[in-house]
Amino acid sequence: MKTKAAFLVEFNKPIQIQEIELEPLLEGELIVRIMAAGICGSDNHMFKGNDPRLKLPIVLGHEGVGIIEEIKSEKKDIFNKKLKKGDMVIWDRGITCNNCYYCLIKKEPWLCPNREVYGITRNGCYSEYLTLDKKTKIIKIEEDIDPSILVPSSCSGATSAHAVELCDIKLDSTVVIIGAGPLGVYCSKFISQKGAKNIIALDTINNRLDLIKEFGANKIFDVNRTTFDERKSYICKITGGRGADIIIDCSGNQSAIRDGIKLAAPGGSFLIPGVAIPLGNVPIELYEDISKKNLRMQGVWVSSTNHFSEAVDITLRNKNLFKKIISYKIKLNDINEAFLNLDKNRNIMKGVIVS
Ligand code: ZN
Ligand code: ZN
Repeated sequence: MKTKAAFLVEFNKPIQIQEIELEPLLEGELIVRIMAAGICGSDNHMFKGNDPRLKLPIVLGHEGVGIIEEIKSEKKDIFNKKLKKGDMVIWDRGITCNNCYYCLIKKEPWLCPNREVYGITRNGCYSEYLTLDKKTKIIKIEEDIDPSILVPSSCSGATSAHAVELCDIKLDSTVVIIGAGPLGVYCSKFISQKGAKNIIALDTINNRLDLIKEFGANKIFDVNRTTFDERKSYICKITGGRGADIIIDCSGNQSAIRDGIKLAAPGGSFLIPGVAIPLGNVPIELYEDISKKNLRMQGVWVSSTNHFSEAVDITLRNKNLFKKIISYKIKLNDINEAFLNLDKNRNIMKGVIVS
């Protein structure tokens, strides 16, 4: 069986659509016809060669939804639903080995040294058809939903669920979300579901700030139009002078991280799901901002299948809301229009390649 696939052959150069032959299916594998594939912020980094995991040539696209075209043997999704040709499915972008210290002993499969990722370490979803490995964790989608709405749940949504799982959110928590892109809006939605009293979002783009209010943020700050002191004094005012209990960096921006740490309350936490590429150093005042505050710094590296499942679930239950993340849809043949313009329009939340 042949498929068209979009190969990144050279960084920062137009992506090449090529036709390739798919290998015959092995036991447990299946072929999906890609219906929708998201363009993630990290695809932009990968396109430019900033992600050290990437080896060329590769078909990018780690967020996909498809229809089963061919299935080799009897197979079920993670909820024990039988899969058959014609079913709409979404899958965990990561494939872990389930046979290493991090998978089996520590039970933190996001740290599995053998973790493979569609569109990052193996060919991904910017393709007509894609073969899914037998270890891929699949969720069958039975709801009537535009597949484009679901794509971010397999990356930003899942990573947000992981970050929120690592926060000790209470009903009276004050949470600051830095960056109101897809990662930020998913964090905001999960945190508002947990009932946190104050969700404060920071960004430099007004459209994103307006949107994150619909996802539960009850105060927004345009970082270009307010000063650090104004933001800090607001947060101190509503917390009896303490500061924010939880700060989540969804921006991957060095100065935003440096400033964000200073907003934390003593005993607070600072989580970093937004850094997905080497960023360089961020100067931190260890004594004032970390030691004396007993501040917990928490990295958040990718996600696991439980986070992916939570993200799919929250998206399905709020499909009219999550629909608002989709900025545009484009055909696979026009992929370069999207990639060569990714930096030009910062209002874009999420582009989706559709069949
Ligand atoms: Zn991603
Ligand atoms: Zn493993």
